[in-house]
Amino acid sequence: MRLRADNEVCEAHGQCAMVDDELFTLDEDGYIALGDGIEVTPEREQAARLGAAACPMGALRVE
Ligand code: SF4
Repeated sequence: MRLRADNEVCEAHGQCAMVDDELFTLDEDGYIALGDGIEVTPEREQAARLGAAACPMGALRVE
C-alpha cells in the first residue's frame, strides 16, 4: 500500500497526525509532508486508512 497526499489541498488541520504522527508526518507549519508518497507496511495499513478518512480536506489517499 502507498500513502499519498495532495499538498495543494492540505490546510494543516492535523487530524491525520492525531491518528498516527509517525505515519502522517507534518512540516513545521503543520502541513502534510509525505513527499512523493510513502510505502505503508501491512501492520500500519489500518492507521493509514483511518488517517486518510480523518482528513476533512480529502487530501490523503491510499493506493
Ligand atoms: S488532516 Fe488533511 S488537512 Fe489536516 S494536516 Fe492532514 S492532510 Fe493536511
